[in-house]
Amino acid sequence: MDLHKCEGRLLLGPGPSNVSSRVLTAMSRPLLGHLDPEFLEIMNSIQDSLRQVFQTSNALTIPISGTGSSGMEALVANFVEDGDSVLIGVNGVFGQRLAEMVRRHGGSPTLVESSWGDPVDEKGMLEAAQKCNPRIVAVVHAETSTGVLQPVEPFKEICDQFGSLLLVDTVTSLGGHPVEVDSWGIDLCYSGTQKCLSCPPGLGPITVSEKAEQRLRQRTSKCKSWYLDLNLVNSYWGADRTYHHTAPISMNYAFLETLNLVIEEGLQKRWDRHRRNHQAFVAGIEGLGLQMFVAPAHRLWSLNTVTIPEGIDDAKIRSQLLGDHNLEIGGGLGELAGRVWRVGLMGENSSSENVLYFLFALGKCLKKQGFKCDPGAGVQAAASFYAQN
Ligand code: PLP
Repeated sequence: MDLHKCEGRLLLGPGPSNVSSRVLTAMSRPLLGHLDPEFLEIMNSIQDSLRQVFQTSNALTIPISGTGSSGMEALVANFVEDGDSVLIGVNGVFGQRLAEMVRRHGGSPTLVESSWGDPVDEKGMLEAAQKCNPRIVAVVHAETSTGVLQPVEPFKEICDQFGSLLLVDTVTSLGGHPVEVDSWGIDLCYSGTQKCLSCPPGLGPITVSEKAEQRLRQRTSKCKSWYLDLNLVNSYWGADRTYHHTAPISMNYAFLETLNLVIEEGLQKRWDRHRRNHQAFVAGIEGLGLQMFVAPAHRLWSLNTVTIPEGIDDAKIRSQLLGDHNLEIGGGLGELAGRVWRVGLMGENSSSENVLYFLFALGKCLKKQGFKCDPGAGVQAAASFYAQN
């Protein structure tokens, strides 16, 4: 296989997103040993910058070696003991994945399920908490399978009332939407590198509050995962610097450069950029005569779900976008398979150029399939949004 064939793809799916040349260059730097003093400095810088991006002062803030699911599993494995009650809001694939992990680690999950496309029902969560008295309350901030943004703050009140820890998945929001770990009262938070941070997939950044660290010290049984045992992992990332596993050196270079880019841009500016490009995207989609799947109040800026019109062949459109325009988008997952397209405008890829190019390409593909629309109307609507905003 010729690796040159990978060039030029525009990744507007649900992740990974395209990566800046600065990050790719960082990855190609010569290796250091994982206990080299220079590498230990890099680790310190990663932790400092990651705290800024998570908006937290939590000491235990580190990237787990592995993709976003490794961060998810690290938190579940360390904070769920046999029989622990865990309350989970489920409105898509990633809430379901959390529940499955809790089961596998011996916990007892209570699910509050909402329709896919709606946020989790806050009242339902409170009622369920009264029955199950949870040790942990868990929600997905940005449900990538549906495109829904979940307000997190209401769940802090439930946690205060029941003495529970608040666990939040920010894989598709960190770097694209505000994520305020300390002020929202989040105890356990994980993310991924390949979405709004625009780094290759390969690390699972996490942060753990002091209250949660106390809970960890009170565990009555050993963490069932050796690799993800935070006491062991943190003996390397913390003051001791004791070998646990060989850190993925090049991924950590890439991650540091990614965090540098985020901080140079500024969090507020980055969020504003994601919001503006999302709004232009919506104007363009409606200009083409299509509809967004999620109601305006609950839409993610980073991941846009578009309802596939009647009579349009989902797979054909996606393969035309890829073949004719070198552009990847995602299909629906689970019960939304065949019903929505998932278009990521994440990190590097949240730009006016990409919004306009996507709308141009989609217009052409729809026309080819006989959909009644003016193929240029999407570009015109988005361009006029940009001119006014
Ligand atoms: N959580 C959410 C919301 C996600 O979108 C994803 C990946 O798409 C994950 C968790 C799992 O991350 P990964 O695929 O990097 O393991």
